[in-house]
Parts: sequence; structure tokens; C-alpha cells
Amino acid sequence: MSQPDVPFPNSPVLPQMVEADHVIQFSCHKGIGCWNACCSNIDVSLTPYDIVRLKKRLGITSTDFLREYTVPYEMEKDGIAGVKFRPVDNGTACRFMRPEGCAVYEDRPTACRYYPVALLSMRRQDEYVDRDAYAVVKESHCKGHEVERRLTIADYRKEQGLEEYDELARGWRQLVLKKKSSGPSTGAPSIKSRQMFFMACYDIDTFRLFVESDAFNALFVLPEDERARILGDDVELMQFAFRYLKQVLFGENTIALNEDAARERLEKWRARQAEIEREAAEQRAKYERQMLEEGIDEDASGLAHCPDEAGSCSRD
Ligand code: SF4
Ligand code: SF4
Repeated sequence: MSQPDVPFPNSPVLPQMVEADHVIQFSCHKGIGCWNACCSNIDVSLTPYDIVRLKKRLGITSTDFLREYTVPYEMEKDGIAGVKFRPVDNGTACRFMRPEGCAVYEDRPTACRYYPVALLSMRRQDEYVDRDAYAVVKESHCKGHEVERRLTIADYRKEQGLEEYDELARGWRQLVLKKKSSGPSTGAPSIKSRQMFFMACYDIDTFRLFVESDAFNALFVLPEDERARILGDDVELMQFAFRYLKQVLFGENTIALNEDAARERLEKWRARQAEIEREAAEQRAKYERQMLEEGIDEDASGLAHCPDEAGSCSRD
């Protein structure tokens, strides 16, 4: 199943964006000639809520689910972490494909539910709210487009249970859009912030241990009832993870800070910055001393010149 993020010319996605009231002709049912064709060659990206549903279905931790069933990938070249299904060993088929259909049908991921529609979340520069648009995927092997059944994308989303899936992935999509729109001027995220994004978005059981940790509780203040609610439910915890990331990555403060701990961290950070600057100044001084000892002068442009002005140096 091929589900590109955006419609490109020459791709199976029809290259025009459509709204939810757009009518599609489509039906997929057992017995159709192409049964399982889409699940035989997969490219299925997962949302955090997809992972919460699937790990519960399989009765395993998110850490084990990620290890066993997924591969990480970068959504954008500047390093937004994403997760995809890992196909069967030495093949391209989904590990949940069975002759009778999907083995996890009730908990199948968002991309599988949407197919043959692609969701395009976007935000215009002058808008404060995210907008959803759609594109229709038409792959030649899919006979579902030939079946005489017409319905709007809005009705198709309802039929496929997508309203709940999209609502619960909204916080994550907002984070991805924000990261994309922060642009190259902000630079690629640090390894630490990528790891934090990955853990909070996809490895909810490790994130739970983090929220329970002394380090987290020294810095953040959570009322006891809120803490119990968050830690006792994967979906609540996932939504808290989005809040947490919005706070640490974008400064949208909604989680109270322990002010003493925050001040202490800020002081530590400032001390570390001062140390880095001092080390850099020492390195610079050492380098300049070496240059002087070796009789090499360095001009403001950083290019070394021959000491003898009258010499034959060609780099004047
Ligand atoms: S999860 Fe189910 S519907 Fe999705 S690709 Fe796998 S078998 Fe197909
Ligand atoms: S009709 Fe399309 S979605 Fe359904 S099984 Fe065939 S290829 Fe897959």
C-alpha cells in the first residue's frame, strides 16, 4: 500500500487536493479480484495512536512493538522522526496480512483505513489553525475504484472509524507541522531532541517511565489526580506527551514547573555555556600563540600570509 505524504505528478495520487465533500467511487470487499494486493507491498507510516492501538491489541509494550514490527525513518530531511511498518523478512508484504484479510483489522493503522484516500494536513503561513485536505490514490492494481459505490470522503472517514483516529493524532500532526514550518533557519534538531521526540511520540511505555522518574518530577509539577489519570491510561499519556513536547520544543508552557528546579537548570545551562565559551577562548589563544611562535601572521580573514612582505609569496 503506497501512501505518499503529498501528491506528486506521476504518482498514483491524483495531483489535485479535494475537500471532505468530494465524492469518490470505491468499495473494497472480500472476493474482489485484487484481494490483499495492497497489503502485499506496503509503505505504511504509523501515528502514535496507531501504535497505542496495535501494542494493546498484541498485548506487548510499545518498546517491543517498535523493535518487532517497525523501522524508523526521517519524515523530512532535517530529521523529523517517523515510524513505518517493517514488512515480512525478505519481502514487501505486511506482517499482519492473512489469506482471509487483515489480522488486526479492528486496530489497523490510519493509513490502511484511509486508503485509497491520502490525508494532507497543512497550515498556511497566515493561518493559526491546521487544515485537512485529501487526495485520491489510484493504483492500477486496485479494483475497488471500479465498484459502483459512491460516497463523500467525509462519509468514508466515518465508515472507516477515522474521526477518532484523526482526533487522537491531531497533537502529533501539529508537532510535525510546527517542526516542518520552523524551517531551515532553526537548523536540524539536536540528537537529544530527536530522541525525545521519538520516545514521547512512539514509545509510550518508555515515556511513562520517564514521567515517573525523579528527574521529571523534580522539574515538573503535576497534581496527584492528574498524574494518576495520565499514568493510568495510554491515550491520556500520549496526549500528555504531545503537551510535553510542545512545551520543551516550542515553549508552549502548559505544564507547571518547579521554579527552584527550573532556576537551577537554567543556572547550570548558563554555567555550561560560559564554560564552552571559556574553552573556545583558550583554544583560540593557544592557536594564536602557536602561530606567533612559528612566525606566521594571520589577518582578519583567517588566511595566513608569508611573513616577508617583500618575498615572492603569490597569495598577497
Ligand atoms: S495492517 Fe492490515 S490493512 Fe494494513 S497493511 Fe497490514 S494487513 Fe493490510
Ligand atoms: S480493492 Fe484496493 S484496497 Fe481493496 S484489496 Fe483490492 S487493492 Fe486492496
